[in-house]
Amino acid sequence: ASAAMHMAQRTSIGVAVYRAGHDEEVANRLVMMGRLRSAIERGEFEFYCQPKVDIRTCKPCGAEALIRWRDPVHGLVGPATFIPLAEQSGLITSISGWMIETAFCQVHAWSQAGFASSLSVNLSAHDIQDPALIGRIRQFAATWAVPDKAIQFELTESALMDDPETAIRSMARLNDMGFQIWLDDFGTGYSSLSYLQRFPIHAIKIDQSFVRAMIVDSGSNAIVHATIDLGHHLGLHVVAEGVEDRAVWTRLAEYGCDIAQGFFVAQPMPVAHFRDWNADWHSREPGWIQS
Ligand code: C2E
Ligand code: MG
Ligand code: MG
Ligand code: MG
Repeated sequence: ASAAMHMAQRTSIGVAVYRAGHDEEVANRLVMMGRLRSAIERGEFEFYCQPKVDIRTCKPCGAEALIRWRDPVHGLVGPATFIPLAEQSGLITSISGWMIETAFCQVHAWSQAGFASSLSVNLSAHDIQDPALIGRIRQFAATWAVPDKAIQFELTESALMDDPETAIRSMARLNDMGFQIWLDDFGTGYSSLSYLQRFPIHAIKIDQSFVRAMIVDSGSNAIVHATIDLGHHLGLHVVAEGVEDRAVWTRLAEYGCDIAQGFFVAQPMPVAHFRDWNADWHSREPGWIQS
């Protein structure tokens, strides 16, 4: 009898523990979703950007738009903590709409002020499958005139592989409107190399995990070197992300990589600081980056 009791107790405790953990997780997600929804209503998102530099000329060549959430309780929150939940809950559509419209509006304002710079905006898997969002991009472009090629979109391989055929159609529509697509986090997704030919893309961004490790890890170095050559043989531009020090910059220059982005060049910054950063960069001694 006592053995049976023991079993029952263990089972019920096991179930209780499991249910408590599960309920807590569901409750947390619901709370988080509610806070995200009110963040959208209250306009708590901030538009950051991170410069990119042409490795050959050492000149700035645009920036990547990166979202931040100014949470009244937790302060500045990065996208890794809320973008996945936004995607699962469908809130991503409003968030992406805000980021894209802000990017158009910003590039429009810059060009009115005589400052020519491009911005690239990240799209999620959900966004690229959404014909309505692509339609809104056409409206933003009609409202906020921007110079040719001044807006690009970044998409990860994984985002494209959910439904490659729909993604290819959306990418073709964006190309027709004059917007380039850059393949983000290249080397970490699960697309086959044959998709590199099929996707209508302009550039690949080598994932920062390879770039950051390339000086100390010969495998990562080989992947970076080969990806630069592969991209160039396919007629694509190649961007390295996660460039954190001069040694990596120098090695990338040796391999003929086109563009660098990373903490060595600049940290992500509020978009309002970007023009000052540009002026500051231009005021440095030519060649400072090599020495
Ligand atoms: P991503 O598009 O690959 O962006 C690059 C990330 O690497 C950024 O993180 C950036 O701050 C970080 N980074 C840049 N340089 C360095 C470096 O030298 N070292 C290191 N360790 N990190 C560096 P962040 O801003 O936290 O964004 C993370 C990811 O969240 C982005 O990866 C992108 O996938 C997503 N994301 C950001 N903004 C948006 C957005 O507006 N919409 C969507 N759908 N996704 C976004
Ligand atoms: Mg990106
Ligand atoms: Mg990336
Ligand atoms: Mg990434």
